[in-house]
Amino acid sequence: MKFDLKCSVQLSREAEEIADELQEFVKDIGVDADLKLEIEGDKLLIQITSHEKRSHQIILQLYKQLAVFFGKRKIGLRGIHVDEYEIEFEVEKKPLKDISIPFADLKINDKIVLMKIVDKEEDFLREGYVDRMIRLVKEKIDKQYYEGKKEYWQLLWQSEEKEHVWNKDPSEEMQKRGWIKLMSKGKWFYFPPAAAIMRAMEKIALQEVVAPLGFKEIIQPMHVSFATWIRTGHLEGMPGEIYYICEPESREIEEWEKFVDLLKITRQVDEKELLKNLKPPKTGVCYAQCPNIYAALAGKTIAEESLPLLIFDHSTPSDRYEAGGKHGIERVDEFHRIEIVYIGTKEQLIELREKLIERYRHVFDNILDLEWRMARVTPFYLQQAGIAGEEENEIKGTIDFEAYLPYRGDRSKEWLEIQNISIVGDKYIKAFNIKAQKSQLWSGCSGIGLERWMVAFLAQKGMEPENWPSGFKKYLDKLPGMPKFL
Ligand code: ATP
Ligand code: ZN
Ligand code: MG
Repeated sequence: MKFDLKCSVQLSREAEEIADELQEFVKDIGVDADLKLEIEGDKLLIQITSHEKRSHQIILQLYKQLAVFFGKRKIGLRGIHVDEYEIEFEVEKKPLKDISIPFADLKINDKIVLMKIVDKEEDFLREGYVDRMIRLVKEKIDKQYYEGKKEYWQLLWQSEEKEHVWNKDPSEEMQKRGWIKLMSKGKWFYFPPAAAIMRAMEKIALQEVVAPLGFKEIIQPMHVSFATWIRTGHLEGMPGEIYYICEPESREIEEWEKFVDLLKITRQVDEKELLKNLKPPKTGVCYAQCPNIYAALAGKTIAEESLPLLIFDHSTPSDRYEAGGKHGIERVDEFHRIEIVYIGTKEQLIELREKLIERYRHVFDNILDLEWRMARVTPFYLQQAGIAGEEENEIKGTIDFEAYLPYRGDRSKEWLEIQNISIVGDKYIKAFNIKAQKSQLWSGCSGIGLERWMVAFLAQKGMEPENWPSGFKKYLDKLPGMPKFL
């Protein structure tokens, strides 16, 4: 590692007469790096070359001491200006192709990265950009190695093969019968029979899983702020899957006059005129329900007696800009989920996960009578980070629940993820500064996709209530009729 920083400090007046005193002063404070200081007229020029401690940290410390030194001589300091900062560091792997990052030029020679930053103001150093830039370079190189690789998938358990009532695609069949209608990309309208099935799924999840385990309901806004998603990582993880929300610039109808006039004449939306009347987005539509839950708990200290904290949401749909989205209801842009969130000690969460699995098993075996399986999954980037293997990391991670879709054929591959259970360790607890009195907290969530439960069920059990398993018929034994359309 080498941190070679050249910067300058504007002084309130020329100060060459104190050059010698300054050298003495600097010798006395003893900076742990190769340090050169020079006064040139009303400018102080500083060069810090360091091999261990980072020069951008050293300068901030030194600046404070210099402010005292100059202050005593009635000279003010007007901030640090970075003239040129060269950082040399080693990475674990050689990049597979060129990389670039904002604010710096990169030259990479085998595993040695030379990062050059020029002409920046003091904030750049104070806000921690430099360390994040170094991290970003490493992250981008790592990513080149796992890109395109599949996530790790390990079967944990699989039900016996079952005989299925039919092998048709339920989405297609529902469309034929008019039960569902595509409204816009991946967003469906559910007419009474389809709505009744989805609500039955919801009722089953609530009565058989959520309530018996003691989860309590919350209601949250459908909008999620960027501040929240920056903390959870969604905004850097999937910026291309978010539905962004814009507020109007103004509510005043006069401001919208031209837009409305154009609309009245052309019966079309003039997009340019519309954009003029919108603010840039600062929020997006709920992508998963847990971020707002963590945001609501931010900064709180949870009493021991309230652990584990068990809550759930089914107030807002989740929206995702998915690939495709025209086909059926198994991968949609707007879906309905119950998401449960649990916060507690590691031991509490392990115990809870067992109970959850047991309740889900009950639903899939005794109520929906599905052919289903469970698998442990770890995204490749987490395996890279050494997540798999270590004891703690064996506990962290995700279990996917999948159901076989007979209409797609091949039993060896045609399975659909219908829900999951995750334990994420202290990632979100830390990000949102949530504490307990004594315990070390972990958290996790489980998302129950109602469209997915519905597709899995209909794909295996068909659309005729008389063929449905008796466990399910207790929740729904007759479908509401469709309105007659002529
Ligand atoms: P997938 O791998 O299928 O895209 P995911 O890993 O993105 O799913 P999560 O973010 O973990 O899904 O959400 C958990 C649950 O939410 C899924 O198990 C599923 O039930 C539901 N879900 C996620 N994306 C969709 C979608 N586009 N349409 C319907 N349900 C979805
Ligand atoms: Zn979640
Ligand atoms: Mg997805």
